[in-house]
Amino acid sequence: MKVLVADSINEKGIAELEKAAEVVVDTSIRPDELLETIKDFDAIIVRSRTKVTREVIEAAPRLKIIARAGVGVDNIDVDAATEKGIMVINAPESTSITVAEHTMGLMLALARKIHLADKSVKEGKWEKNEFMGIELNNKILGVIGMGRIGSQVVTRAKSFGMNVLVHDPYISEEAADEMGVEIAELETLLRKSDIITIHVPLTKETEHLISDRELNMMKDTAFIINCARGGIVDEDALYRALKEGDIAGAALDVFEEEPPKDSPLLELDNVVLTPHIGASTVEAQRDAAIIVANEIREVFEGGTPQNVLNMPVLDPETFKTLKPYIRLAEKIGSLVVQATPGKIENLEVTYCGELAEIPQQDILTRTILQSILNPILTEPVNLVNAPMIAKKRGVIVTEGKRAESGDYKSLIVLVVKSDEGEFSVEGTYIREPKIVKINDYNVDVKPEGIMLIAKYRDLPGTIGAIGTKLGEHNINIAIMQVGRKEIGGEAVMVLKVDQEVPSHVLEEIKELENVDDIVAIEL
Ligand code: NAD
Repeated sequence: MKVLVADSINEKGIAELEKAAEVVVDTSIRPDELLETIKDFDAIIVRSRTKVTREVIEAAPRLKIIARAGVGVDNIDVDAATEKGIMVINAPESTSITVAEHTMGLMLALARKIHLADKSVKEGKWEKNEFMGIELNNKILGVIGMGRIGSQVVTRAKSFGMNVLVHDPYISEEAADEMGVEIAELETLLRKSDIITIHVPLTKETEHLISDRELNMMKDTAFIINCARGGIVDEDALYRALKEGDIAGAALDVFEEEPPKDSPLLELDNVVLTPHIGASTVEAQRDAAIIVANEIREVFEGGTPQNVLNMPVLDPETFKTLKPYIRLAEKIGSLVVQATPGKIENLEVTYCGELAEIPQQDILTRTILQSILNPILTEPVNLVNAPMIAKKRGVIVTEGKRAESGDYKSLIVLVVKSDEGEFSVEGTYIREPKIVKINDYNVDVKPEGIMLIAKYRDLPGTIGAIGTKLGEHNINIAIMQVGRKEIGGEAVMVLKVDQEVPSHVLEEIKELENVDDIVAIEL
């Protein structure tokens, strides 16, 4: 395996990688050179300098992993990577403490006017009365977004004796209780807090989350800090609020345009500005490099990486529980794609019984899709790109859960509709994968080897005629099962045979009286 390190990363990360791969470090590679070089590599590690564009991804037939030794992946075309089944990996945990500490630094700078005092002393002044500050102790800190960084800020703020209000619609009361914080609506947080700090991602919902209306709600003594992403705070509105004294000060590490050319904020004394250095510590950079190096090694060694952005990640316990069903899902997917005539348009998966209780069944749906799509497409389909490819091909996938699972502990029920018909299968896992229902008829077959599935009318002589026809062509029947709902009605026959069945034999069987259809499946 070959890994290209295209931006400079900590040497400890490189040493980790060298244990599992051939590593080429070229941290000054130009975009045109990258287009040529990338074709020989299985993985690439970047920070923010190198842009991994669609063009680069398309020029990389061997590429399996794009790793960002850090958090933001703005320089990676994640959609293009997903389409090609390439994992995009980052190291989100690596910078949380570092960014939280930077936030605390900015908070202290604002509270004690450190930036202004420093400037004044360097100008030869000694203006002791100019820099009266405030304590953080007993102040209310409003934290918007209590994820990885937000919660590290909370821990630190509490050690400073601050009372914390949190606005994060996606966290539970229990999580808030555990952290010893109070959950608040955004408006309450804005009105009550002495200092507000933002730790949400930049999304459509959070763009200009803080604008004129929100700044007007804040105390005129309050400070606001943004160490998250430029664009969450409306900088024009912030300038107006600072200029007019609606709030007391602001600290920004991130900007709508970076660097913030011609921004009027640059002229204000009551703002502290840093050049997007929230994540810039030796420790964060080292940890990011080691984390992504370990993730790449994990993938190369067939393990389960933890920080894949374009694929769900299972914790080891869930993976252990789902593993047998992943095997079953592979078999079921493979069975339906061979058994369903026409173009598959709709796929309905229901997880029943205990399986419905286990989180992250999404991985099973992805496995089914992968098994269905792989044999019919030339482009490689994997767990990363399977849902996207299915969507592009117009396959509607729905997932459901059901507590009831009949005689079985767990069951996967799959109903597939195509432009030519419908096929359904139910499977379970009892020491090995088992198919227990086909098209509503009970069966009990191991999904392996060569199977024939025949639809016929349950009339005397039909089963014998099929057996005789196979015998005439020297095809040995290993196992045979039949399922019917009523005597003389429609029935299904599942045969396991020891030899491949040529298509002309299948045609001959289809022509037999009372046989409606027969398909051969290889699992
Ligand atoms: P995270 O995903 O762990 O946490 C984000 C939190 O925001 C989650 O708890 C989520 O529920 C919450 N959230 C989402 N939408 C919200 C909304 N509308 N209102 C309130 N809460 C909302 O992310 P993280 O790792 O803690 O990163 C937080 C921010 O810090 C991100 O914007 C990230 O890009 C940024 N960051 C900046 C630097 C830097 O150099 N300054 C470095 C790393 C990360």
